Amino acid sequence: MASSSTGNSDGLQMLDSVRVIPPTDDPKWPLWRYVQKVAKTGGGKGGNAKIICRLCNRDVTGSYTRVKHHLLKMGNGVKPCPKVTIDVLVQLKSEQDKADASTKFAKL
Ligand SMILES: [Zn+2]
Repeated sequence: MASSSTGNSDGLQMLDSVRVIPPTDDPKWPLWRYVQKVAKTGGGKGGNAKIICRLCNRDVTGSYTRVKHHLLKMGNGVKPCPKVTIDVLVQLKSEQDKADASTKFAKL
């Protein structure tokens, strides 16, 4: 519930400006808020929606894992997001950590 804003970080302001809480928002997967799912049209194969990073507008289509690797710069063959600065990374990591922690508690 910390609502203090330092206001000295462009990166975090950018993060706030691109954050969109989806209608299907699930606190377990906070990073969906920073990407956009684009329904595939005309493919006919069904399956994956296209996923675009809202920060850098790159295609990160795949699973949530890929989104996570992109935004948290975890590697594993996924290009890291060029827009994620240290401040942003710390923020995103803490959101993901909280989500991981709450999922663990929920399972207990
Ligand atoms: Zn990106």
